[in-house]
Amino acid sequence: MTVRVGVIGGGQLARMMIAPAVELGIDLRVLAEDHGMSAQLAATAVGDYRDLDTVRAFVREIDVVTFDHEHVPQDVLRALVADGVQVHPGPDALQFAQDKLVMRARLAELGVPQPDWAAVSDAEQLQRFIDEHGGGAVVKTPRGGYDGKGVRVVRAGDEAADWFAGLAEGESLLAEELVSFTRELAQQIARRPGGEMVAYPVVETVQRDGVCAEVIAPAPGTSARLVQVAEQIGRTIAEGVGVTGMLAVELFETDDERILVNELAMRPHNSGHWSQDGAITGQFEQHLRAVADLPLGRTEPRAAWTVMVNILGGPKDGALEDRFSQAMTEHPEAKIHTYGKAPRPGRKVGHVNVAGSDLDDVVYIARAAAAQFL
Ligand code: ADP
Repeated sequence: MTVRVGVIGGGQLARMMIAPAVELGIDLRVLAEDHGMSAQLAATAVGDYRDLDTVRAFVREIDVVTFDHEHVPQDVLRALVADGVQVHPGPDALQFAQDKLVMRARLAELGVPQPDWAAVSDAEQLQRFIDEHGGGAVVKTPRGGYDGKGVRVVRAGDEAADWFAGLAEGESLLAEELVSFTRELAQQIARRPGGEMVAYPVVETVQRDGVCAEVIAPAPGTSARLVQVAEQIGRTIAEGVGVTGMLAVELFETDDERILVNELAMRPHNSGHWSQDGAITGQFEQHLRAVADLPLGRTEPRAAWTVMVNILGGPKDGALEDRFSQAMTEHPEAKIHTYGKAPRPGRKVGHVNVAGSDLDDVVYIARAAAAQFL
């Protein structure tokens, strides 16, 4: 029987589930925030995901609910579960991707390596944390941050005064040690409701201004031990939080070869886009398989190297598609993915994947192809 999967959120992640859904014969439907969003190519309803009645109406003829983002409120998720709806990932897992303080506490329980951290509710507490951690700290709003918004490096407690002023009674900010990392990595895991898991090779991610710019798969120059440690951390977390679907674990690598967990995403993630063209099973297909409780696909790379370069901002004039002819002529090996979004400075409007045997070549071509769209 055709499985009907409902995706809450109409962004590019929902959009990129559409092609694999078609191939698998999955009936994919989307609840988008607005008209004209990235995922409108699928059957799309428009409505507020925070409103229980809207979400209930959306899921009425759906077998499994999953997500393009992690912002659906807990009370809405729990009401769906109480109605008997299959929700993947479920609210118990999603809470750890929704609130960074809740995540830090759970990772501590799981014994997973992470930066030193504390919940701080005023400038004095933050100052104390800074004094105990070499004169600096990273302060984060526990909820609602993305692409570096809600993250601030501070040297004094009063540098987060505006955020403390905005806290409600009983709320705190997350303070973390300022990690001097040599690079950032990401580990992807897929997990089925019954617990079956597969791991992707750990990748290197490059951030610019807090936004993912490039990903190299697998992470170059990585020892076998580090690959194993990253996978083990991913598996421990996936099982420990009970995630279903794709899990992305963002990691810091330190100069003494330790890896520390930065944060979690429970959905396909920018750091996994390379797998669309570089792995036997892409993360969007894998997410659908996992949430529909189908056997998982293999995760090995198809080529020695795959590089993903984000198209950030897009052309100053015209649409991405206006640049197709030249980009495709000059870089026929590049796989271009567009999100159907209007260009705007800094906005993720698409990405390019290139796979091959020589890393320098692959990086060069992927950057050159992406630059055709700027
Ligand atoms: P977001 O939820 O906005 O993606 P993150 O928590 O991933 O925020 O932080 C964004 C970026 O800020 C990270 O990719 C990293 O470059 C930097 N960063 C975050 N936490 C730390 C930390 N504890 N030490 C050093 N840099 C950090």
